[in-house]
This record gives sequence, structure tokens and C-alpha cells, in this order.
Amino acid sequence: MDLCGGDAIMTKVVVNFLLGLLVGSVLTLTAVVGFNHAPWDWSPSIALSNLREFVSTPSPAVLAYTALALSVTGLLTFYWRDAVALAGRSLRRASSSGPRPVTHSTEQPLRGQAEVNAVRDELERQLGRLIVLIAGQLENSKDHVASLKDTSAHLASVTNVSELREVVQSLISKNEMNERQTRDLEARLKEAQDQTSTLRQRLIQAEKLASLDPLTSVANRRRFEQFIAAAVNNSHADGTPLCLIMTDIDHFKKVNDTYGHAAGDRVLKGFADLLSQSVRKGDLVARFGGEEFAVVLPQTPMGDAFAIAERIRSIFELHGGSDESLVGEFGRLTASFGVAEIREGEPPSALIQRADQMLYEAKYKGRNRTMIWSSSSG
Ligand code: GH3
Ligand code: MG
Ligand code: MG
Repeated sequence: MDLCGGDAIMTKVVVNFLLGLLVGSVLTLTAVVGFNHAPWDWSPSIALSNLREFVSTPSPAVLAYTALALSVTGLLTFYWRDAVALAGRSLRRASSSGPRPVTHSTEQPLRGQAEVNAVRDELERQLGRLIVLIAGQLENSKDHVASLKDTSAHLASVTNVSELREVVQSLISKNEMNERQTRDLEARLKEAQDQTSTLRQRLIQAEKLASLDPLTSVANRRRFEQFIAAAVNNSHADGTPLCLIMTDIDHFKKVNDTYGHAAGDRVLKGFADLLSQSVRKGDLVARFGGEEFAVVLPQTPMGDAFAIAERIRSIFELHGGSDESLVGEFGRLTASFGVAEIREGEPPSALIQRADQMLYEAKYKGRNRTMIWSSSSG
């Protein structure tokens, strides 16, 4: 987590400073007590007299050496990258009052959405063609009825058998034409129906793909936002409880740095699978960004949500997700969890922020734990 990363750097800077101070002091002391003497000439009494001499009249050479030692201290203390990173993180922390920003590097909602739009357009065109087809047939039927009426009027004025034969002949041929048109329409309707149902299937598939994270196959951020908005609405409408778990793999960067990005991807997939296997059908697991996931639990009170988070946490720690080989390969993997329950009238963004705050708390308190929002949390 960003903020925790900042705390880790702060600890590193303090430790480096103490280390630097120690090294600097040892170097200075060595210079002082060893001054004017080769190491093999050194003895405690010489060291002591050098020290006394230095304290009363500091020699320029020893002072220069001391300065060098203190520069080393300085260098050790201010690992510039850490200092820059710390400043950057502090600035970000100060400027963001809402939930932490997340990257969407793995999501491709736009491409998925373009496919959905294309299939939807094609479906609309197909339905348009169908309407034209049906309208055409209605016209034909109207013509047929009109022509039957004509024939019937003609029938009234028939005076002999040959005229009657003509009328009947015309009736038969009109009926045959109508039959042909009907058969033709049936065939074209069947074809259009098949195409429409294929397009419908494609649309369902494309919509599904557009809402999934391509790496882990859980819901993407876009789907998460739609789902949580609807879940919060339902919860407010029927007064049912709703919980949100935010979780983030601990020290995940180390997995990437040590075993490579592809290995990191496998751990992500394993963790996402474990989350999906640990929730009910009506719940939603989503990749919130990077190695951070969200689990929306409708109709679930805090006690149950906490138990779910704790179960996932301990399984991940023991087995490394759904793929047990991960633990053997990467050693101990752990994750931290933050849980919050919806409050009356609260918007989704506030729920997300509280769960995220608890996740930060879990990281801050040492990771591999679940923190829940209680009335004393803020
Ligand atoms: P913390 O315990 O505080 O969460 O530490 P961390 O190392 O897990 O957190 P940090 O935010 O420093 O690092 C997260 C890393 O996750 C950095 C980023 O490169 C990696 N990451 C994000 N998305 C992916 C991905 O799709 N695949 C892989 N392999 N790594 C990813
Ligand atoms: Mg993270
Ligand atoms: Mg992490």
C-alpha cells in the first residue's frame, strides 16, 4: 500500500541514520586513537593519549578524516531514492482525501466495450431487417385480401360457367402466389431468427468479457462500480446488511522482484481464484487495481464478513491460494484485509473508503490480519 510503503521507508531512513552514525563514530574513533601510529604500533595507552591530545588540540588531519567519516554517515542516511519516494508519497497522501488512487493497468474495458457496442449495433440492424420483412408480408397480405374482395365482387356478376371457371382459376393462382410468398417469408424469418439469436449470444459473451479482468477472470473495476452501486441501493431499500472487504497481497512487489512478473501473475490468479471460491453466488469478487481486490457481500452482516475474510486470510497463508504449488515455490504468502459494513444512507464511495482505511490499518499494524470498521474507527 502506498501509505504503508511510506512508513516502511521512514523506518529505513531512521535505521540507516543510526547505522550511519555508528559507522561514522567508529571511523572517527579509529582515526583519533590511531592517529600518528601504524596499526601494528597500536596499544590502549597510545589510543588513550591520542584521544586526550585530540580533545585538547584537534589535529587538521584527524578533523579531515572525521569529516570524511561523517560524509559516509550522510550518504548512508539519505538514500536519495527513498527520500524522494517518501516526499512523493507524503505529497500524495496530503492531496488525496478520498480513497487511494489505483492503477488500471490490467483492464481493457474500452476494447471490450467497443465489441459490445458493435454486436449491439449489428443486433439492432438485424431487428430492423426483420421489421421490414414483416411489414412487407403485411402489405402482401393486404393486397391478397383486397384481391380476394375483388374476386368476390366479380363472382356476384358471373353469368356463365366459363366466367366462373376464370374466377376460380384466378383464385387458385392468387392463392398459390400467396402460399409461395408465405413460404418465402417463413424461410427468411427463420434465417433472421437464427441470426438474431447468434447475435444475442455474442452480445451476452461480449458483455461478460467487457466486465472481466483479463488476467484473473474476476470482475473488473467497471463491473465492481456498477455492482456495488446496485447492492448499496438494494441494501438501503430493504434495510438488509451489506459488507465490503478490501484485500491486498502483502509485499507483493518482492514476489515480482524475486521471481519475475510472470510468477507474480500466477500468484495474483491463485489469490483471485481463492477469493472466488470462498464467496457465495450473489457476492462479487473484483480486481480493484494492481494486487488489490474487493469482495462485495450483499445481505451479510459484519460478523459473517469478518469470518469470511479471516478464512481466506488463513487459507492463503497456509496454501497460497487455490494453487498449492505456489506456497512451495514462493514461500509464505500473506494478505491483509479491511472490512466495513454499510451505514444508513451511505453512498458506495464512503463504504469503499472505510474498508480501504481498514486495509491500511491492517498493513500498518503488521500485515497478514483483518481489521474491521467499528464505531471507534473514525
Ligand atoms: P504492501 O504489503 O504494502 O501491499 O506491499 P506491496 O509490495 O504488495 O505493495 P506495492 O504497492 O509496493 O507493490 C505492488 C506491486 O504490484 C507493484 C506492481 O508492480 C505489482 N503489480 C501490479 N499489477 C500487477 C500485475 O498485473 N502483475 C504483476 N506481476 N504485478 C503487478
Ligand atoms: Mg497494493
Ligand atoms: Mg500489496
